Amino acid sequence: MSSDAKILIVEDEEQLLRMLRSTLIQAGYQVFTAKTGMEALEQMILHEFGVVLLDLGLPDMDGKEVIDQARAISRAPVLVISARGSEKEKIAALDLGASDYLAKPFDMGELLARIRVALRPPRVCPTSQQPRAAGLQIDPATRRAIVDGESIRLSKKETELLQLLMEAEGAIVSHERIIEAIWGRGSDADFMNVRVLAWQVRRKIEPEGAAPRFLIAEAGLGYRLCLD
Ligand code: CA
Repeated sequence: MSSDAKILIVEDEEQLLRMLRSTLIQAGYQVFTAKTGMEALEQMILHEFGVVLLDLGLPDMDGKEVIDQARAISRAPVLVISARGSEKEKIAALDLGASDYLAKPFDMGELLARIRVALRPPRVCPTSQQPRAAGLQIDPATRRAIVDGESIRLSKKETELLQLLMEAEGAIVSHERIIEAIWGRGSDADFMNVRVLAWQVRRKIEPEGAAPRFLIAEAGLGYRLCLD
């Protein structure tokens, strides 16, 4: 059951963090850690995680706020690990898009089982013969996106990214191709610039919901638009 999936542990309790880290490394995962909500979000911009383990009680931000912001950055399933075992907390976390919830103290075997479930490939967005982004239109002339009838102002680069993906009709557009189209050949823009740009676009156009509806990240490959 070894896997090279990257897992982010967000936990401010040193001892638990160390225990989780060694358990997951032993199970064959690549493990990253964060002790604050901000660190967690930064890590999620830098890496594509297979799973994010998130403690709700963090020193700088409420874990629920982290889940909310993470949705705009990352597609990784968020598995909440929390001492706050109340049913209300659990429902609030799941409503915000956490994929699972484990109350502390938990059994490591149980945690590993939940991680394996979370790592299963996500639902594939279907594509069709006549692609059209469901509920999303782009007006490059005025730099606006129209999401379910609501007009949203975009920056130049944000418009360019959406237009590029729209033109690809649901096919994956590689990071390299995006860099070339938006920053130009020979620029020193890299994968990070693409990720940050995609994050900005998602914050603007993705409606409420557990998973991005339009702008889909394909780990290690690039981005595509989810089309009708
Ligand atoms: Ca804590």
